[in-house]
Amino acid sequence: MLRALLPYARGAGVDVRWAVLTESDGFFDLTKRIHNHLHGDAGDGKELDEAAREVYERASARSSQALRDLVAPGDVIYLHDPQPAGLVPAMKEAGLAVVWRCHIGVDHPNDVARAAWRFLLPYVEPADAYVFSRRAYLWDGLDEAKAWVMPPVIDPFSPKNEDLDDERVAAILAEVEEEATILETEPVPADAKVVTQVSRWDRLKDPEGLLEILAEHLEDPDLHLCLVGPETEGVHDDPEGAQVYERVASRWRELDDEHRRRTHLISLPMDDLARNAAMVNALQRRSDVIVQKSLAEGFGLTVAEAMWKSKPVVASRVGGIQDQVKSGKTGVLVDDPRDLAAFGSAIAALADDPERAAALGAAGRDHVRESYLAIDRLREYVELLESLLRDRG
Ligand code: UDP
Repeated sequence: MLRALLPYARGAGVDVRWAVLTESDGFFDLTKRIHNHLHGDAGDGKELDEAAREVYERASARSSQALRDLVAPGDVIYLHDPQPAGLVPAMKEAGLAVVWRCHIGVDHPNDVARAAWRFLLPYVEPADAYVFSRRAYLWDGLDEAKAWVMPPVIDPFSPKNEDLDDERVAAILAEVEEEATILETEPVPADAKVVTQVSRWDRLKDPEGLLEILAEHLEDPDLHLCLVGPETEGVHDDPEGAQVYERVASRWRELDDEHRRRTHLISLPMDDLARNAAMVNALQRRSDVIVQKSLAEGFGLTVAEAMWKSKPVVASRVGGIQDQVKSGKTGVLVDDPRDLAAFGSAIAALADDPERAAALGAAGRDHVRESYLAIDRLREYVELLESLLRDRG
């Protein structure tokens, strides 16, 4: 998302930079735990206790030190998500206006999620503004007057979303066959109907559930399922990815021949992000139906990306997906994310009805054009900036 937004800001003369945290002593294990907890999920089963706080504060102090060399009093800093939330106090002290942007949220916060809020609250609270993806995500204990609601956006001109003609799609898919790590018995046949989910290898995206849906509820011999994700060693801040991928791969090996033939686990190279994005773009465009079977989802950029490509989406009725997909109009929502049969029948019905699929896809594209393009969000960011600068005279 930042890759899309920053060039616009720089083009408008704003001197904006983007910095990324580096790993230190178990920091990403801890922040993955925080990420899971914020979704109400126990994650690795460990607590956010004093030892966790020590790891978090040590890493935050190190990063603040590095950041201080890059910033000056009067600058504005946007800190995205829980990982850099620990930098808020130091950046305030350094005289910056601080915006904390939270993409993560949960529909019905449980004790696990609330404990994660309490863990982060002392860091987040002093920020000048908080930006959440949905109003419902605002935490207890945060000042509503400082809260802004802005869903994430996509950029229609980026390699991920730019228009590609059929020839270009075919050429990129040939590169995928050659360069990606693919678990399959044979490539997707040219005339197959394709159902695709694009996601990090994460339990909350439920890739294993999708294998069960194919095995139990999708009998059409021409229907193929593609699970597309990044090569796990390419995602440094997601230490659970490799383990989740291994579980999906071992379940894939247990499928009977017919279901294995129709299932493809595709891990895309991450060394060149523009090429990775082009591969995602082509795979989404090759698909007849895009599925997002998340058990929890802050927003679900993959949903907006698919809709922008006029693809019908079948997705769980969770989190920010509910804002994007109006069931029956811009896609189909499944009320219970664990209802495999409902997913199966929604996918099969769309794969068998290209006319309805096209109508939902076209309405989806309109909805993204109206609500989730980068240029509109920039206007809101300008308002936010103006309000911070006004407050500082
Ligand atoms: N993505 C990607 N390459 C991949 C797999 C995923 O660029 O190999 C992108 C995907 O297109 C989307 C983002 O990663 O833009 C995932 O965002 P989303 O909101 O769907 O889920 P998150 O990963 O933030 O939980």
